[in-house]
Amino acid sequence: MAAGDEGETVATRTSEKTPAERLLDALGPIDRFNPDVGDFGSPARMTMEEYLEPHAFADEASRLGPIEKVHLFWFAGMSCDGCSVAVTGAQAPTLEGLMMGAHPGLPRVVLHHPVINLESGPAYERAAEQAIEGTLDAPYVVVLEGSNTDETIALADGGYWSGQGEEPWGPGGKERTVTADEWIARMAPNAAAMIAIGTCATWGGIPSAKGNPTGAMSLMDFLGQDYRSTFGVPVVNVPGCPPIGDNFTEAVAAIVYFLQGFGPLPEFDELGRPAWQFGETVHRHCTRGAYYEEGKFAREFGDKECLVEMGCWGPVVNCNITSRGAINHVGGCMNAGGACIGCTMPGFPDKFTPFHKAPPGSLVSSTASRMLGSIIRPLREHSADHLNREVRWDLEGHVPSGWAREHSEPNAVQKLSHRFYDRLRRTNDGGQRSGETWGKRDEITLRKDPSLERELPGGEDEKIPAKEGR
Ligand code: SF4
Ligand code: SF4
Repeated sequence: MAAGDEGETVATRTSEKTPAERLLDALGPIDRFNPDVGDFGSPARMTMEEYLEPHAFADEASRLGPIEKVHLFWFAGMSCDGCSVAVTGAQAPTLEGLMMGAHPGLPRVVLHHPVINLESGPAYERAAEQAIEGTLDAPYVVVLEGSNTDETIALADGGYWSGQGEEPWGPGGKERTVTADEWIARMAPNAAAMIAIGTCATWGGIPSAKGNPTGAMSLMDFLGQDYRSTFGVPVVNVPGCPPIGDNFTEAVAAIVYFLQGFGPLPEFDELGRPAWQFGETVHRHCTRGAYYEEGKFAREFGDKECLVEMGCWGPVVNCNITSRGAINHVGGCMNAGGACIGCTMPGFPDKFTPFHKAPPGSLVSSTASRMLGSIIRPLREHSADHLNREVRWDLEGHVPSGWAREHSEPNAVQKLSHRFYDRLRRTNDGGQRSGETWGKRDEITLRKDPSLERELPGGEDEKIPAKEGR
């Protein structure tokens, strides 16, 4: 597409080093790992993988592909751990199902999560060391929750922003804290996929809001535009604050199917979001959408109507929580009474503040809805009055309900308009006409397109009779 045809296409490419490369330059190379994992403190005295493997192992027949397992390393940058909580509540598929290899054809997922795993300390870090050494026994995927930072800022003062474990990577082999950023920078080049979960990791999120003392940024910003995994996949983004757990586990399952060779890479949009999850706006599936259409708006939280005047940005936000719910298709923002603050969007939070104030653009559409609604609502109520009555009650002029002794019966004008409405409705009723079956092609259609004529088994042309009464 030529620039200017349908909006301008801008291709940017920078020869500058990425923040990940600059961090590794500052830290220098590494040449050793912890020699002894020691006693890692769990009562089971085994790793999570050793604990689950006897039950989760899939043989060649059941896994239906070359990969028996995939390691999934979870790191937390500038994070509140909300993404971890959301993912442990996922239902379709569940995290447990993925870890147990319970899905036909799917390799089991060997999760390395600092909160969930049994092992701790050097035993926990061992698998990540092997990933860097190139000795891990299966492909691996890296997940980041929380934003990356600019650790070179903290490094200048001898500190760090966000660390996980220690390695003998200090001067003279001294143990030093390894930051989440460093693990990611060292593991990304050989990862089968890099997944950012939650808005902090996908777009920088709250840690990167105005001020941003840590230099917080997204995984995409950290690894740069040219990043590709060993399978040729750019960074995958599953935003949300927190994200819907199912969005993440579903994306992981789809990617792992791809790694297994079961199909093409699932469709992602131009920002690396699963396209089937983020292609629609919140508003299009909102349970309060009909109130918007009729121009009825909530005045305070707790009201049942549309929340746009309470600061809802749903009409312009890409998110599927209104159709998917928060957990197991239950709950989630508008379903539970909250206005959308745009938490899945790259511009969040700075472009959505102040929260809970009506977006300026909503003034035009909500005023238009109010005007149209003032006409549509009474007409709908008028129709509903008629539809709430049996035909028998119309004939008898009486509703025999024991729930209310008194009923208002339609007056003469209402009766007349309902009769007119019924007549109007029946003008479109094909079942009222004689002699034809709905859906059958008529001769007029056949004459226009002779190719529609069919040979009958006996050799005679089948002619469909012309309709009568038209
Ligand atoms: S509450 Fe928000 S998303 Fe729902 S109908 Fe109103 S504006 Fe749209
Ligand atoms: S509806 Fe809005 S606030 Fe709620 S999860 Fe989606 S983007 Fe975030």
